[in-house]
Amino acid sequence: MNEYSITQIAATIDALLDVKCHSGAAQPIQEVLEAAKIHFNGKQCDRVFMYNPDAIALWVYEKYAQKFAQLEQKVQLTSKATTVFPPVTPVCFASMYSGFEPKKHGIQKYAKPVLAVDTAFDDLPRAGRRAAIVSTQGDSISRIFLNRNIDYFIYKTKEECNEKALELIERDEHALIVPYNGDYDHWMHRFGPEGKRPLRALDENIGTFLDVHKAISKAWKSHSTALFFAPDHGCHAKFRLFGTHGINEPCDMQTVHFTSFIPPFT
Ligand SMILES: [Zn+2]
Repeated sequence: MNEYSITQIAATIDALLDVKCHSGAAQPIQEVLEAAKIHFNGKQCDRVFMYNPDAIALWVYEKYAQKFAQLEQKVQLTSKATTVFPPVTPVCFASMYSGFEPKKHGIQKYAKPVLAVDTAFDDLPRAGRRAAIVSTQGDSISRIFLNRNIDYFIYKTKEECNEKALELIERDEHALIVPYNGDYDHWMHRFGPEGKRPLRALDENIGTFLDVHKAISKAWKSHSTALFFAPDHGCHAKFRLFGTHGINEPCDMQTVHFTSFIPPFT
């Protein structure tokens, strides 16, 4: 399993799409760029799909590995992604898409101001490429990346988001699509990371990734696509019954990322 920091994602998206990254961002992930070269047979990657389920810890993946068996048949890279402190949603996603540590991007606690620094959502439109965020109302991704020249699709439910994400694949207009699903995190807080309901949400998140993989394989036959499964941070049990995250321990600081390289169909 290779390892990287969540701050390296922004420059990786830009490098995959051959877009100039803003200055100061963490370096792109070499393993991802090298794997893209191999799997796309030297053809330029022109689609990145970042599926962002919330709070799926590396230890949850290790303990429930059998749940990921079907997903792992579709991916070429499984990575240990170390997140930033404090490991809470707006801080982590701000780092993922800006490439900056929290001190530099400005969100250092659980708060959702619109980010004032450059992100991948600024780099793409500058290069004339289209990006879309598909996320639930009030959640971090729906708020901290506002005021960019990109398309926002904000809905009440996860189901509406996922339906729209599949529709956007059909429409084939965006170089970058970023859908967010917060259901594992939501249920994990209420019933603990290993509760029945959160584990069902995890199954659904894995199912959504598989649906997206299938839709891309069908609709984007002329494109080279990098499809990521990229949570923001991990989690741990609290008082046996509940779940939480936010501490500087591997349970919260380490998550698992998967990358699938879907070459053009020839
Ligand atoms: Zn989160």
